[in-house]
Amino acid sequence: MSKLRVVIANVCRLLLALTFILSGYVKAIDPLGTQYKITDYLAAIDLAAMVPQWTTLSAAVALAAIEFALGVFLLFAIKRQFTSRLTLAFMAVMTLITVWIYIADPVKDCGCFGDAFTLTNGETLLKNILLVLCAAVVAWRPSDMVRLISSSNQWLVMNYAVVYIIGTSLWCLYTLPTFDFRPYHIGVNIKQDMTVPEGAPQTEYETTFIMKKNGVTKEFTADNYPDSTWQFVDARTVVTKQGYEPPIHDFIIDSATTGEDITDSILSRPGYTFLLVAPSLARADDSNFGDIDQIYEYAQEHGAAFYCLTASTDKNIARWRDITGAEYPFCLSDETTLKTIIRSNPGLLLLKKGTIIGKWSHNLLPQTDELNAPLHQLSIGQMPQQSSTSSRILKVMLTFLLPLFLLSLADRLWAWSKWVRSKQKENNIFQIFKSKKKMRKKIVAGNWKMNLNLQDGVALAKEINEALVAEKPNCDVVICTPFIHLASVAQVLDSTVVGLGAENCADKEKGAYTGEVSAEMVKSTGAQYVILGHSERRQYYGETAEILKEKVDLALAHGLKVIFCCGETLEEREAEKQNEVVKAELAGSVFHLDAEAWKNIIIAYEPIWAIGTGKTATSDQAEEMLAYIRSIVAEKYGQEAAEDTSILYGGSCKASNAPELFSKPNIDGGLIGGASLKCADFKGIIDAWKK
Ligand code: PEP
Repeated sequence: MSKLRVVIANVCRLLLALTFILSGYVKAIDPLGTQYKITDYLAAIDLAAMVPQWTTLSAAVALAAIEFALGVFLLFAIKRQFTSRLTLAFMAVMTLITVWIYIADPVKDCGCFGDAFTLTNGETLLKNILLVLCAAVVAWRPSDMVRLISSSNQWLVMNYAVVYIIGTSLWCLYTLPTFDFRPYHIGVNIKQDMTVPEGAPQTEYETTFIMKKNGVTKEFTADNYPDSTWQFVDARTVVTKQGYEPPIHDFIIDSATTGEDITDSILSRPGYTFLLVAPSLARADDSNFGDIDQIYEYAQEHGAAFYCLTASTDKNIARWRDITGAEYPFCLSDETTLKTIIRSNPGLLLLKKGTIIGKWSHNLLPQTDELNAPLHQLSIGQMPQQSSTSSRILKVMLTFLLPLFLLSLADRLWAWSKWVRSKQKENNIFQIFKSKKKMRKKIVAGNWKMNLNLQDGVALAKEINEALVAEKPNCDVVICTPFIHLASVAQVLDSTVVGLGAENCADKEKGAYTGEVSAEMVKSTGAQYVILGHSERRQYYGETAEILKEKVDLALAHGLKVIFCCGETLEEREAEKQNEVVKAELAGSVFHLDAEAWKNIIIAYEPIWAIGTGKTATSDQAEEMLAYIRSIVAEKYGQEAAEDTSILYGGSCKASNAPELFSKPNIDGGLIGGASLKCADFKGIIDAWKK
């Protein structure tokens, strides 16, 4: 059922679309014709004189554009709800108008299809009833209309259709209608088309006579016409049978000077005849009078006749003569006939033995350089090679469809390139995102070791804090102090600027471990970090991988971040065992952590041979090692986690070598021993991140 409904809706939509496109197009190519028709309607309600011409002409262009655009929108199923509702409203109004013209008969032809097809008022009413029903079906469920174009391309078709049809109207106003559906098109022999063929059916009329006798009024026909005792009152004649009417039946030319009917002499003239057709000289465009005068001179020179046909008064003819210096003869004809002959005021016709061989708008008249020989030698003097109607229709369709297709193609290419660009951008953003991720925390951490008493430590902490509060660092800064300093130092630090850490913590949770300080205790001082695995603790206090593992677990369990140190001795480096050693240290104490816990680990690579010796690893050596550490972290926790892990270098790092070290992609900062004991030295290293 729903399939049938969709089929019906689409049949209705296509019927409406094709009707609208056709009626819009034929109106658009003949805006003056449409204007005349609108004026006829206005005249029927006595408004024609009140409405200015420019209004009716604009209405003609607008009406054509609305119909054509609606047709195209329906055809492509663009803006389905809006289009279907507008179509229904439009058809409802049109149907009401046709009901009126059917009843009141103010015009003989509705003008729906211009001069292309003429329908009787009854046929028009039937057509509109059918179309309004179709419009109702389509408007009922607009979404049933199958789209012929993606919604992203709709704007293109919409704009193009409107621009195309308005452009067509304006062009045809400037020139002449692309298709000439009127009886006076090129190739027509006027005289022949005025002739009624022998034996053609004659129009039959019946006259009714209204007669009166002794106060009695009665109707009679010719068959029962009464005697003379009846007095004639009135007569009524109606057509009872329409006979043959030749295509041209209203072409009469009278000389403006003598009043003589010269139609036959003009149409039977053996040579060429120019007819300048100006229905109304009062409203005619006089801007090209120079061209007209030159054509007249040319005609005189080459034996061609030249007449101006008009329906104007003597006064207006005289005025035209005054303005333009016209010397050509003027003839009178019916205004409607003249308007039918050519859609230009004035327009020019060239007849050859009564046959129309050329038509020009006053805007595109033949120019003097074209008129450089007798007409029979010129192309304009020959009957044009008329392309067949179907090939002209094809041409028009191509002028609409080809650019539309090319525009759609361009739009698709543009959309595709936009997509590619957005993908690239996305990639770039991803890269930035990745590099942001690579912008893992940069850290400079001080390791005071066992150097400062409480007062000196607090004083140094204060000094560092003040310096960094005054000038915000470009990295995280941590100072790691002996246990006894922690609580006091915590008091003097702005924890948003300087972090605090311990240099160690116990490998036991709590209990009878005299002299030990647990992770929980460290945390309770306000510290956030703890250094574990420092080579000095391993070396002097026998901290093994297992002990460190316990410490790491306890520190993390109590919410501390661990700065976990690793590094090889000189012998190990000389034996090229640094990777192996470091890997074993990490594997023994931190690689057991899960990914979540790993987020709280900071690695500090400190080659033992560089700590406190003044012998720094070169930046390349440090970078190589840190890259290796990152690679094994990646193996264990994945690339992303590795990219997020801050890995520091430690070992005789000072303000002088920090910039070089920190410039390496894998070095995320430093763990600083000796140089962290003086504020200026420490700050100098911190400032390396500003370079
Ligand atoms: C340290 O002890 O962690 C350290 C790197 O020391 P120094 O900077 O003095 O070499």
